[in-house]
Amino acid sequence: MDPIYVTKPYLPPFEEVSPLLRQIWDRKILTNSGPNHQLLEADLIRYLGIKNISLFSNGTLALLVALKSLRLVGEVITTPFTFIATANSICWNNLIPVFADIDPITFNLDPVDVEKRINSNTCAILPVHCYGNPCDVKAFEALGENYNLPVVYDASHAFGVEIDNESILNFGEFSTLSFHATKVFNTFEGGAVVSPNLSVKKRLDRLKNFGFVSESVVASNGINAKMSEFSAALGLCQLNYVDKCIKMRRNIAKVYCELLAGVNWLSLPCYPENIFHNTAYFPVRVGLDAFGMRDSLVEHMKEVFEVYPRKYFYPLVYDFPYFSGYHDKERYPLPNATKAAAEVICLPIYPDLSESDISRVVESITSFRC
Ligand SMILES: *Cc1c(COP(=O)(O)O)cnc(C)c1O
Repeated sequence: MDPIYVTKPYLPPFEEVSPLLRQIWDRKILTNSGPNHQLLEADLIRYLGIKNISLFSNGTLALLVALKSLRLVGEVITTPFTFIATANSICWNNLIPVFADIDPITFNLDPVDVEKRINSNTCAILPVHCYGNPCDVKAFEALGENYNLPVVYDASHAFGVEIDNESILNFGEFSTLSFHATKVFNTFEGGAVVSPNLSVKKRLDRLKNFGFVSESVVASNGINAKMSEFSAALGLCQLNYVDKCIKMRRNIAKVYCELLAGVNWLSLPCYPENIFHNTAYFPVRVGLDAFGMRDSLVEHMKEVFEVYPRKYFYPLVYDFPYFSGYHDKERYPLPNATKAAAEVICLPIYPDLSESDISRVVESITSFRC
């Protein structure tokens, strides 16, 4: 029995990649906004329906640089129910993360709770489109306008997601993407910042290239976060398959929903009509108040079926030792985030997941007795 992991990276046919590698070898342009980099930016703008994009070497640096470009000082309100890179990028900018609660259905930062945490030190809001579920972008837009705060979205999970036929990446000051191996669209490692206008994009492009404005002028404290020609070439090949990959993921999600509908102690994700979802993850909630039960289920799935779901996102960010000093749980208990961290597991979902794999995942759940 081969183990089934939560994800498996998609790769385009090798024969389609090798000619692009040959070109790189012939041209000897390896990085610094080379031809593949430029093509990939143009193709992604078309594919995603966005205005501007800057490619990065990974999603964390994309987020780090997007925040840096805003020259912020003070507190950034964000979610504790996310991958650690969201909060790391705040601290790397010498900013203070402030954690607010999430919505129990979408798992996204709750704008009502965010508003309660806004004070004179607040300098930005950093929501995450968790699992590819769109945030309440209208509410965050209103908060941003009312309090004069930039909203930066960590859209690492939201490649290709649309709301009312518009890319979710077109909301806020910036949206950042990750093209890591585990994401819906991968360039092995990679990332991007989507920005609303060209002058902002140019500022990001300078920041990711050490701050160089020209050969002899450095105007900001930049970093090296450029995407290489190798990753950009992979991205060009991947882009031909991403529609197919998302379609396969959506089919798997549909089959899971059908086969697991009868399990009354499991809550399945819901997909509103006006949202085109990428089904980057398949999060389910186990039980009602059942911390122990979730963990026993995971053990059962692993031990009996070699199915390896993941407890994304447990622990909450502020329960990691480094971040514990940033949040007073007694004073600001975040019940929805706490409950989600105790109850959610993400089931395996990736384009190559076969029908028999899906059956095994389903059986690993339906055979569980607590
Ligand atoms: C993957 C991910 C990142 C970081 O992306 P990398 O490309 O791995 O650096 C940031 N935020 C979230 C929510 C992620 O899932």
